[in-house]
Amino acid sequence: MKKSTKKPALAAANTPSDNNLPSGSGPASRGNSDFRTIAEVLDTRLPFGLQRRTAQSVLGPQSAVSLAELRTDVHGEHAKGGSLFLCAQCEQPVFVAQRPAEPDVPRNGDAAYFKHFSAEDAPPCSWRTQNLSSIGAVQYSGQQEGLDHLTLKNALAECLKHDHRFTDVRVEKRVAGKDGNWRVPDVAAVVGGKVLALDLQLAALPISTILERASFYEENDIHHIVLTDAVDLVRLTQQAFCDMHLTMGGRIFAVDDSSIAASLSSGRFQLKELSIVPRLVPGRPVHNIWESRLVGIDAILMDPFQRRKEGERQYSQALMTAANASFGPQRQAIRRAAAKNMSSAAVFEHWNHIARAIGGLNEDSAIPQGVGAVLAFLTQVEICCNVAPDQRASAQLELQQRLKTLLDSRHALHWAPLVVQVFKALPGIEPAICPANSARLTALLTQTHTVKPTLRWYAGMIGVLHPFLAFRLLVKAPKFLPSLRLPASRA
Ligand SMILES: [Zn+2]
Repeated sequence: MKKSTKKPALAAANTPSDNNLPSGSGPASRGNSDFRTIAEVLDTRLPFGLQRRTAQSVLGPQSAVSLAELRTDVHGEHAKGGSLFLCAQCEQPVFVAQRPAEPDVPRNGDAAYFKHFSAEDAPPCSWRTQNLSSIGAVQYSGQQEGLDHLTLKNALAECLKHDHRFTDVRVEKRVAGKDGNWRVPDVAAVVGGKVLALDLQLAALPISTILERASFYEENDIHHIVLTDAVDLVRLTQQAFCDMHLTMGGRIFAVDDSSIAASLSSGRFQLKELSIVPRLVPGRPVHNIWESRLVGIDAILMDPFQRRKEGERQYSQALMTAANASFGPQRQAIRRAAAKNMSSAAVFEHWNHIARAIGGLNEDSAIPQGVGAVLAFLTQVEICCNVAPDQRASAQLELQQRLKTLLDSRHALHWAPLVVQVFKALPGIEPAICPANSARLTALLTQTHTVKPTLRWYAGMIGVLHPFLAFRLLVKAPKFLPSLRLPASRA
C-alpha cells in the first residue's frame, strides 16, 4: 500500500472555490480559532452524565443543510421550553449562531458557534458575550418597507384577485388566531375554505421570529408562504434564508415579472419556485445550481412536510440519474462489493474512476481513512430499510457488526458525525443498533480531540454512492443566483 500523505490526495485538479473540497483544518487554519467563546456544551440528547462535548466536535462537522436543521431544532426545542444544548460552564441554554457572511467564511458548521439565549436573571458566566447584531438579527425596519415592497404586495393581491378560486384578498390586514394573538401578513386570501397568508421576506429576520410566525400560522390552520423576490436574491446565501430553503428541501417561492404576467393573463395564480438541483460536470466536484419554474396552487398549497420530502427526493434522484449516466457500472460494482462487505483492490479501481469524474479523494486517502468500513455500513443501512420481515433480525445483527467495525476503526472519531447524519436521515435505523454501538458512539461524540472535516471531504463520493445522504451532505446555497426579472414598475 502506498504511504498516505497528511493532506488527502485529490484525484483530479479542482477549482478551490467549489463545493466539498478539503479545506484545510477548518477555522483555525484561517486564523479564526477564537470565535467560539463557548468552548464546551452539554448535549442533552446524550445520556445524563455523558453530555459534555466540545463546540468544535458538535458544530465543525455540520454541512450547510444539517446546520440549518440544527439551528431550527435548537430554537424549536427552546420555544417548547426545553434545551438541546447548555453552556458547559453555567448550564444555561445556548443556541447556534453563524458568523456573518464574508467571502472567506464558510457556510457550514466551521463558522458556527454557540451563544447564550439572552435571559434577564441568568447567572453570570465568563463565556457570556454581548449581544452584538448577529447574523439574521437585522431588524425589519420601516426604511426597508419602501414603495417597492408596497408595489409588490399590491401586485400579488392583483394576481390573487384575478383568480376566482381566491376570495377575500387583503393587503396588510390583521389575521386573528384562536388564542387572541394575531399577525399581519403582507397579503392574505381565502382559498378552498382555508386562509392563505403570504409574506415577502424583504429583510432577514432572526430565526426565532421566523419560527414563531410559522408556528402561529400552523396552530391556526393557516397556510403560510414566504416569498422572495429579485431584490432579495443576494440574500439567498445568507443564513436566515438558508434556514428557510435548506429545511424545505432546497425550495423557496419567488415573485417576479413573469409570475405576475402569467397570473394576470391566465386568471390562475402562479409563483416562481426556485429549487436547488445538483450538477455533475466531468472532473469537477458535485455542485448546486438554482432552477426556477412557474408553479400553480398544487405546489403553492402543498403540505410543507410533503414539499420538503419531495424536494429532497428530487435532489437525490437527479444526482443518482446523473451518476448512473456517467459511471453507472463502477457505481454498481462498488455497491455490490460493499453489500458483501468486501473492500478489495478491484473495488478501489472503480472508486478511483468515480473520484476522477467528480474530483473526489482517491484510494491513497480513502483506504487509510477507513472508507471500506464506511461503505459496508452505509450499504447495510440501505439493506435494513428494504429487508423482508423474516430477514430483519439477521440484517440488523449484520448492521450492528458493521457499525462496531466502523466505530472501532482508527478514524472512527471523524466518522462518528456520519453515523449521526444517517440516524437523522433515516430515523428508523437508530433503534436497530445495539446498546454497545450506542455507548461507543457516545464515547466518540464526547471526545475532546478536534474532529476533522472527513465527512465534507467525502461528501461527493458518499452522496453519489448513497443518495439517501446526498441532500444533507451536498446541498448548500448555490454560488450563482437564479435570474428573476423585476416587475417593470420597480426596475
Ligand atoms: Zn455560560
